[in-house]
Amino acid sequence: MKKYFDSREKSSLKDRKERQDQALSAMVKLGYRKSARLRQILNACKIDPARLRTREDLEVLPVTSREKLVEMEMRDIPYAGLENSSAAIDRIFTSPGPVYEPHLSESDFLWARAFCAAGIGPADIALNAFSYHLVAAGLTFHNGLRKVGATVVPSGTSSSQIQVQLIKDLKVTAYVGTPSFLMSIIEKSKEMGFHFRKDFHVRKACFAAEPLLPSLRQVFEKEYGIDTYQMYGATEVGDVAYECSQKSGWHICEETIVEIVDPATGKNVLPGELGEVVVTRLNDIFFLLRFGTGDLSRLITEKCSCGRTSYRLAGIAGRVGDAVKVRGLFIAPSQMRLISVKFNNLPLQAVVSRKGHEDVLTLRLEKRDMEIGTKGWEEKFRKLFREICTVKIDAIEYTETGTIPPDQKIILDSRQW
Ligand SMILES: [Zn+2]
Repeated sequence: MKKYFDSREKSSLKDRKERQDQALSAMVKLGYRKSARLRQILNACKIDPARLRTREDLEVLPVTSREKLVEMEMRDIPYAGLENSSAAIDRIFTSPGPVYEPHLSESDFLWARAFCAAGIGPADIALNAFSYHLVAAGLTFHNGLRKVGATVVPSGTSSSQIQVQLIKDLKVTAYVGTPSFLMSIIEKSKEMGFHFRKDFHVRKACFAAEPLLPSLRQVFEKEYGIDTYQMYGATEVGDVAYECSQKSGWHICEETIVEIVDPATGKNVLPGELGEVVVTRLNDIFFLLRFGTGDLSRLITEKCSCGRTSYRLAGIAGRVGDAVKVRGLFIAPSQMRLISVKFNNLPLQAVVSRKGHEDVLTLRLEKRDMEIGTKGWEEKFRKLFREICTVKIDAIEYTETGTIPPDQKIILDSRQW
């Protein structure tokens, strides 16, 4: 089995950038000729397509959100004029909206990098429990599995009882689907009198479409001996990022340009800062430049010990609307919750206020034991907060136990605008 899907995953940063910039430039030129809408967008911004040569040049274009895409498509059914008018299109998918997507050809290796990184190969029999009906998931994951040589059981959204039967009879080794569905399959197998770990052969699982909670991951891995991997993408742009064996961030796919931007301005934030994930899929069928996913993440630029050289996304920290900006940096509720978990579920709350023209970030923490609030403890807390949220805390206020109820807003923005 291959450790890397291809040599691109190990290419130098310079080579990757050159390759992606060239592909982007070709995509824009082709799109300008073939897509009425892209031509219109560039003309409206007074941009000569020859000027869009590198990823940095993308910043002059607007970010297109899912809502905006739906609106554009409804006015100009089916693809808003963003498609290559002379391309042969294999399949058309839909997603809620509705949005219609002309899909990349079957020869595209969508998701294959993710499956390869998860150790799935020709020896595997994979149960693909994503829907094959109208939406992209089923068929695109199926294709990716075939590209790494796995045998696929296209079980789709069949009942959990049928999935258990298939896992048993076909000696399935890998599961592809949502974490919650795998859990209900495991529960069903118990009801049917099986011991999932002893009686079956499922040892790997690749998840998408739903967050994988750390507690659930632990159950899969420790209790059921299933090695778990997360994959991230969107129907509009295909696969975006995937987890490797290090499970410390998701590698960005070689065929996508990912920007992390300030949703208010559309400009890139600095590496490590939180912002919206904006994706441009390099392809010659659908010319959707700068798709705004609405998801929040951070970029990890350090090299990963798996040997892949691509930058990684630090998971998804929430949706754009949930984040609060403090001194130009976003913090998200999920980051606060993560900090709370790291300190033994410490009840906490961030309060953002204003002093003159300056934002002030105050952390309220429940002092539920003697150690909390000591110098050493506070240093540790501030350091972790800085690591996760990148913002510096201005003040810490220790409160009595029970003063920060769980239903209270975890980030309170008390600034007046
Ligand atoms: Zn890695």
